[in-house]
Amino acid sequence: MYLQKLEVHGFKSFAQSATLEFQRGISAVVGPNGSGKSNIADALRFVLGEQSMKSIRSKKSEDLIFSGSTKRARMNMASVALHFDNHDHMFPIDFTTVVIQRKIFRDGENQYYINGAQVRLKDLTELIAKAKLGLKGYTIINQGMGDAILESSPKERKEIIFEALGLKEFQLKRADAIAKLSHTHVNLEKAEGITREIEPHLKFLKRQAEKIEERQELEEKLRTLERMYMHTRLRAVDAALDQRKQQAGAHERRIVELREAIDAISLKLDTQGEGVTHSFEGVSHLEAELMKEEVQRNSVEREIGKIEGMIAALEGAEERFVALDVGYVREKLEQLNNNLADALHSDSHDALRSAVHEFSQKLNALLHEVRSGNVSVKADQKAVDKSHQLREEGRRLSGLLEESGKRVREIKEQMRGIYAAHDAEKEKTFVLRNEKREKELTLLREEEKFSAVNAEAEHFYREREVLHKEKEMLESRGVDFRIGDDAGGHSADEEETRRNIERLRLRLENIDLIDENIKKEYDETLARYNFLIKETEDLRNAISSLHKIIEELDGMISVRFKDAFKKINEHFNEYFSLLFDGGSARLEMVAEERELTGEEGEIVRERKEDYGVDVDVSLPRKKTTGLAVLSGGERALTSLALLFALVSTSPPPFLVLDEIDAPLDEANSLRFSKILHELKSHTQFVIITHNRETMRQADTLYGVTMQEDGVSKLLSLKFGTPDDMVV
Ligand code: ATP
Repeated sequence: MYLQKLEVHGFKSFAQSATLEFQRGISAVVGPNGSGKSNIADALRFVLGEQSMKSIRSKKSEDLIFSGSTKRARMNMASVALHFDNHDHMFPIDFTTVVIQRKIFRDGENQYYINGAQVRLKDLTELIAKAKLGLKGYTIINQGMGDAILESSPKERKEIIFEALGLKEFQLKRADAIAKLSHTHVNLEKAEGITREIEPHLKFLKRQAEKIEERQELEEKLRTLERMYMHTRLRAVDAALDQRKQQAGAHERRIVELREAIDAISLKLDTQGEGVTHSFEGVSHLEAELMKEEVQRNSVEREIGKIEGMIAALEGAEERFVALDVGYVREKLEQLNNNLADALHSDSHDALRSAVHEFSQKLNALLHEVRSGNVSVKADQKAVDKSHQLREEGRRLSGLLEESGKRVREIKEQMRGIYAAHDAEKEKTFVLRNEKREKELTLLREEEKFSAVNAEAEHFYREREVLHKEKEMLESRGVDFRIGDDAGGHSADEEETRRNIERLRLRLENIDLIDENIKKEYDETLARYNFLIKETEDLRNAISSLHKIIEELDGMISVRFKDAFKKINEHFNEYFSLLFDGGSARLEMVAEERELTGEEGEIVRERKEDYGVDVDVSLPRKKTTGLAVLSGGERALTSLALLFALVSTSPPPFLVLDEIDAPLDEANSLRFSKILHELKSHTQFVIITHNRETMRQADTLYGVTMQEDGVSKLLSLKFGTPDDMVV
């Protein structure tokens, strides 16, 4: 990489557009005092993003824009563009030419461009840093800044050397790693803190979540059992209900039958009752008749008795006993025969009976007289007539009595018939009643059975209702009854299932009901905890890898620094003795010792090895050593020796030196130009100078002039070999 050209327009005294084309090697800018040469160095600083006004010799941004002169108006914008050849891709972008540009306006606005595209200052600074073109170090060494490295403190010197060696980048990386490390430590502490905070809560949540899980498992089991039980039970209940319905139906039919049968019997009984009553109807009449007959018979019998008494009494008076003779017997028998013959002619049956009766009696009396041998002789005809009359009456009455007896027998016969019929009716009623009673008893039993079956059915209805409600409730809790429909089909024991359900319900009651959200919280907290554990691990890994990086960087920086430091020292001594024609110079690493107050107020000494860099010189032919005693020229020579030592050890792509050779005498100017000649193969030089020797070394020479118009003008004086130089 090298500078190709610089374009300035409106910057400080460069009111006109001016272009400086550079070549590899040395480009010198010459011109009278105040013509605007240093403004070119300022333009280079400016375009590289310098933010310090002081570094570009200004107070405010307006000072950077051409402020006008008596002959020329002021300008409103200053622009500087710097072209690089980037074939070696020192700038890590895909362009072989990189143009950086900066514009500034009167209002202070700055604009930055990379290859024509506007960018932020940050982008520009980063790009420049990537190409290792530091501003801080020695890329542009201004007039009077030559001995800056000598003026600096040991620590600053070390910094400058670091930058010159390109170690700044690693230092920055190291600082970055350290910052990251402390940041990581903070994060680790935070993560560990939160982890510690979470742990007890997580334990608590875990226990709760386990309980929830246990509960869920039990609930799941319970649901399965409930489902099983519900199925079995519903089936059983349905079957029982069907059975009870059938039974009830059968009983009901039987009841209806029985009732009909009973009604039929009742009806029969009613008719039967009438029959019984009717069967008695003739009895009272017959009884009355019988009674009447009896009464009549009694009176007839009494009458007959009376008559018999009277006849007996009359017989005493009418009869006298005389000896029986045959005449008498014949007379009697003839009489009897007549009487009988008379009677036989009678039409009346009764009269005949009476005549026979009388005949019999008379015959008997005659027989009696014959046996006794005596005959009663009637004393009195009247009495005999009376007696005859009475006997007649007696016969009539006897007839009556006989008739009545016959009648009584008839009546009794009739009554026996009625009683028999009545009894038969009664018997029938009795049988019917018994039948009815039996049926009624059966009916009662059937009704009892019916109501028992109904009660059972009612019980099953209620159970079914409860089961259905429970089922609905379970369904609302998400139990899917369509799943495992046959779960209950193989259920071992309904009772056992029911007991298990009870046991599970009891167990569930004893497990605290925990908010389901706890589970979610547990999962989240666990995830967070795991994340934190992982993060803690990552952070620990990051810390150890950062330590490793720092260690590696430290190792590398230390090795490179030591290596380079040795070389710088060699070159420093070399250039020093060359410029001073003798003597020696060296750089030394110094430690820093500090007194600190310890934790208990004690004084602690802290020593930091390799803290900074000290410069030690010993001039030729002089006894004094050290920087303090050097003259102005000697200081300038020493800083040049050091600058060249740095440049030769770690050559920068380009170096701008602004009148750094001013204090050199002729002999030293020669030596200076010799050294430049040595170094230009590795570093491109832009040198603002009044020194002829330096001009002689230049490959390109520009002259800067300023007329009365106050505008700097460029003049290409030499382009090619030093021999063509025209001043
Ligand atoms: P020397 O050889 O004495 O160091 P030089 O050539 O380096 O001089 P510079 O310091 O570069 O000179 O230029 C200074 C000149 O630039 C002064 O004349 C100053 O007036 C002019 N100048 C500086 N800033 C502006 C500006 N903003 N507008 C116009 N002219 C300016």
